Amino acid sequence: MSSRRITLVVVITVGLLLSLALLPEVIRSRTPAAKDSCISLLKEIDGATQIWQEEHDKGTNDVPTWEDLKPYCKHVPLVCPQGGSYTLGALATEPTCSIPIHSLNFGYVIVMDETGARLTEVAVTVYQHQKAEYQTKTGTNGVARVTSFPASTVDSWSDGTRHLEAEKEGYEPATSPVTVQWPIRFKLKKKSE
Ligand SMILES: [Zn+2]
Repeated sequence: MSSRRITLVVVITVGLLLSLALLPEVIRSRTPAAKDSCISLLKEIDGATQIWQEEHDKGTNDVPTWEDLKPYCKHVPLVCPQGGSYTLGALATEPTCSIPIHSLNFGYVIVMDETGARLTEVAVTVYQHQKAEYQTKTGTNGVARVTSFPASTVDSWSDGTRHLEAEKEGYEPATSPVTVQWPIRFKLKKKSE
């Protein structure tokens, strides 16, 4: 064998060994972390509730049992990855986890004035420690969405390093921790002249 050929064989062998070594890593990274996240499980429960309701002619206020939902769920038993416990709800109320931040409403912020009227164009900022991480504004319905899924990011929001701030010209700014029941609601006070 020429030395060039030997080099080629070595390169191919090393490449093959490397890719074999990396294979589990590749497979693991392809499995979305969100699969294990509580919110995707809540979505699954919610979807199963919907199918159960349709197939059994139930009303939006009928609450299914786990037994009812079993045929429509992929991940049985459904267990919160952080040890929370689930409460099944009717379609109108949606399922919840006992860990508040694990919510299908995670990411939604509603801003009102003192009378309860929705406020538009309110700057809503996510701070991690004291650093602004993300900013958006409320729309005409007074609602802002401060994070987009993947739901996998929720777990890192439970570590207590983040908080929210809502600010609008002419109003007192307000802050809120994020480890509370979502959606987060702000009531902004008008600044006194
Ligand atoms: Zn949970």
